[in-house]
Amino acid sequence: MPESVYLNGEWLAPEAAKVSVFDRGFLFADGIYEVVPVYHGHPFLLEDHLARLERSLAALEIANPGQAFWLDLIQQLLTRNHSQDALVYIQVTRGAEAKRSHLPQGPLQPTIFASVSAMPVHWDVPTPVKVTLLDDIRWLRCDIKSISLLGNIMLKQQAQACGALEPLLHRNGLVTEGASSNYFAVKDGAIYTAPTDHLILPGITRMWVLKLAKELAIPVHEQAFSVADLAQLDELFLTSSSREVQPIGQIDDIIIGQGGCGEITERLVHAFHASKRQLSAQ
Ligand code: PMP
Repeated sequence: MPESVYLNGEWLAPEAAKVSVFDRGFLFADGIYEVVPVYHGHPFLLEDHLARLERSLAALEIANPGQAFWLDLIQQLLTRNHSQDALVYIQVTRGAEAKRSHLPQGPLQPTIFASVSAMPVHWDVPTPVKVTLLDDIRWLRCDIKSISLLGNIMLKQQAQACGALEPLLHRNGLVTEGASSNYFAVKDGAIYTAPTDHLILPGITRMWVLKLAKELAIPVHEQAFSVADLAQLDELFLTSSSREVQPIGQIDDIIIGQGGCGEITERLVHAFHASKRQLSAQ
């Protein structure tokens, strides 16, 4: 539990932070969020996270309080909570209004909330996990980091029931992403991942891993890979701010490669750790 959270201009103990029952975030999930990883007290790839936050706000036509506001808020949040390795959570909803109407009657004061939690522990080479293939039942604007996550939650629950960490989602025979991660397939030394269109969230870790792969001279294709090819993949991994680069050993009953962490995945795990250390030492 954090010591102090931010809510609408105030720093409060978590149990003292209260939101109106008329908040459109509560009534309609009318809001967006962002998660920023922090290593050794340094927000990682912060500019990219703030750019995505700006895109999410713009999509909902919610005014952005601006870069300086976010930088100050995040810095204060980390200082007040003595956070070193952490995940910053930011949420903005359209605000509260007494009349419940799908169409905002506005102009409203957005509700801004920020909190922080401990970063999960990451091993040098993470243990491979199992994922399960599921139909992507979500909406068609997955590029917006919306707090409306019902589809993602239902899919996560289904995955858990199959003993899997994440669903491997597909539409029309092509892999899109996970419920809270992006997927990468490795075949014959090249990497394949779905392109950034409306069907996936443009993961910041995804973007960073693509950059690392290019630096390592690993061929990358921002091209969705097909469900029909899953059994023939050499390697599969997922990325997210909390999981970083996570090898996958198994999709349902299909063992990927030898079921362990593949060679290219391992190179990217090491490159990712090295880049983390480098950026957080600056
Ligand atoms: N896709 C979805 C649906 C997600 O929720 C997340 C994590 N928030 C990601 C991908 C990965 O994004 P990032 O690397 O920015 O954490």
